Amino acid sequence: MTTQTEMFERSKQLVPGGVHSPVRSFKGLESTPRFIARGDGAKIWDTDGKDYIDFCMSFGPLILGHRNPGVEQELKEALERGWSYGACEPYSLQLLEFLLERLPFVDQMRFVNSGTEAVMTALRLARGVTGKSKIIKFNGCYHGHVDSMLIKAGSGLAGTAEASSAGVPKGTAEDTLILELGDLEEVKACFNDHKDQIAAIIVEPLPANNGLLIQEQSYLEGLREITKANGALLIFDEVISGFRVAFGGMAEKTGITPDIVTYGKIIGGGLPVGALAAKKEIMNHLAPIGNVYQAGTLSANPLAMVGGLATLRNLTPESYKKIEENTKAIVALFRKWLDEYNDGQFKETKIVQEASLFWMVTKDNVHRACDIPADLGSKFAPLFETLLAKGIYLAPNGYEVGFCSLAHDHDIQKELERRLFA
Ligand SMILES: *Cc1c(COP(=O)(O)O)cnc(C)c1O
Repeated sequence: MTTQTEMFERSKQLVPGGVHSPVRSFKGLESTPRFIARGDGAKIWDTDGKDYIDFCMSFGPLILGHRNPGVEQELKEALERGWSYGACEPYSLQLLEFLLERLPFVDQMRFVNSGTEAVMTALRLARGVTGKSKIIKFNGCYHGHVDSMLIKAGSGLAGTAEASSAGVPKGTAEDTLILELGDLEEVKACFNDHKDQIAAIIVEPLPANNGLLIQEQSYLEGLREITKANGALLIFDEVISGFRVAFGGMAEKTGITPDIVTYGKIIGGGLPVGALAAKKEIMNHLAPIGNVYQAGTLSANPLAMVGGLATLRNLTPESYKKIEENTKAIVALFRKWLDEYNDGQFKETKIVQEASLFWMVTKDNVHRACDIPADLGSKFAPLFETLLAKGIYLAPNGYEVGFCSLAHDHDIQKELERRLFA
């Protein structure tokens, strides 16, 4: 047994599946999870000292790379001041001022501890504001592990939905309406079928949790028009796309103003932060001034606020350009390798890329969850294992996207090339 499998065996005795989040479990793969001891720049080291070029990057938050020196310095200083008060402090105020000056489509923001919490609050707020209870969610969009978002299309009549997890009450499932992405007529029909009952549409404007399902601008504009016409709110879940495709995420990139935006991942730079933001008229509904309740003992944790601000300060237009250049170079290297490796074993694999995200899939033009090839997992496994053995770490699941960062620079690209073609 290697030390990696030995630690995984020990973990499995103590936590279900040996992991604290299912996607870390290497399910369906031959190898077992690596126990990561440290990271630096674009690399991580397991507890045996083996290093990997990291394309998981904590599933998105580390847009500057691991242990960015400026962020590390500010975190060290913050640590020396104390790390939780349960009271007002200046650090969240600094982060709010920094963010709201740069996100002109919202007036106010509240910090929570995760993307899931941000979504949970956004949904409650949408229902509180509209007085309606149903939410439209799209198949293939992930919004965290909120009960009402763990819903899939039902196997029965069209438009029916059922829980995708045990433990979600039937009544909760009934308030979530599941549609396929990309079809505005379906959305209109759904509003007709549920007149005056729909509080909001929630959408990942760049769906990146179940493959990378890029949507048309006109489709997102259509969602904006339909919600407006029906007295429903539009929620952009920008937990991945926020601060990644542009500082202001897809709201900035598309010029579409959602009613509520949720953030997570990059906003905390690798510390646990989520947030929801909206115009004042909507945010006014939140407690303590409004009657939509929401709270958190560790919300706006000062260490996390400092980590977030130190990270976000680095995200200038130039850095986005650089990260995208890094990504294009890396995708080109993977492309060449996929074509050539082992007499073309992986040559049918395509790479979809958007900003600093990429996704490998064996089919062209995949924009809806129902178009993802059913054998994605079995095609991904040998690809993943081959790369892992070369010291290249992808997220251990074919439905997850790859993340590049500012640290995936020229030197790392050279190293990637050496590792791929060694
Ligand atoms: C990651 C993610 C979430 C959940 O965030 P957690 O911090 O994991 O709770 C929600 N929505 C989207 C779009 C995400 O990418």
